[in-house]
Amino acid sequence: MEVTTENGRYVADHLVLSAGSWIADFLPAYADLFEPERQVVTWFEIADSSKFAPERFPVFNLTVEEGRYYGFPEWGNPGFKVGRYHHLAGRVDPDSVDRVVHDADVEILHRFARRYFPEGAGPALQSSVCLFTNTPDEHFIIDRLPEHERVHVVSACSGHGFKFASVIGEIVADLVTTGGCRFDLSLFSMRRFEGRNDVLRA
Ligand SMILES: Cc1cc2nc3c(=O)[nH]c(=O)nc-3n(C[C@H](O)[C@H](O)[C@H](O)COP(=O)(O)OP(=O)(O)OC[C@H]3O[C@@H](n4cnc5c(N)ncnc54)[C@H](O)[C@@H]3O)c2cc1C
Repeated sequence: MEVTTENGRYVADHLVLSAGSWIADFLPAYADLFEPERQVVTWFEIADSSKFAPERFPVFNLTVEEGRYYGFPEWGNPGFKVGRYHHLAGRVDPDSVDRVVHDADVEILHRFARRYFPEGAGPALQSSVCLFTNTPDEHFIIDRLPEHERVHVVSACSGHGFKFASVIGEIVADLVTTGGCRFDLSLFSMRRFEGRNDVLRA
């Protein structure tokens, strides 16, 4: 197979597509399977850092009436880091996503911290915008392209892919080098969306 990029032409037996929120650029016919979504995380000032230290404060995922939130103990950057799944919801263009953090963004997270973690709800120290790439059922896609057996589609996100990066790397390496892997990948198949008119146009 021949792959042409801005940096040159490559000939390879297999191609692995793992372009995060830009994966639809390579697979326009499957664009509906990959929803880039703007995420904001904020670090809030903590009254007593010992209460948010890793040895006594867990990484958490919390569903409350305000939505589903995730948070971290104080680690690296100063402050209590908080985010909300599907922050403002809705598809964005990864190339033109609004990278500015607005007061309304911070308030979505601050309101949660004030109510549930008041000792970690001081002023916002830092915020950043990044992207989730959501599949319709929020499970990963790790599969061969239906039209091309040696093109591997790896979209492992929906906001929870980082912790699986090493095993996903192992799986894809096995698929490319041996044609198989020791895990059942049916949960991650692209074909699970076949028949869903709302997502699969191909
Ligand atoms: C705020 C936030 C918090 C998160 N917290 C967690 C967490 O606590 N735990 C967890 O497990 N996961 C978390 N995640 C999710 C995790 O970051 C993603 O699931 C993971 O990064 C997805 O990996 P990926 O390789 O699919 O995409 P990415 O990490 O986005 O990598 C894709 C890469 O492809 C590159 N690329 C795109 N197009 C091209 C092109 N045309 N040419 C060359 N390169 C290209 C991009 O620049 C990028 O570097 C979080 C994500 C966000 C945004």
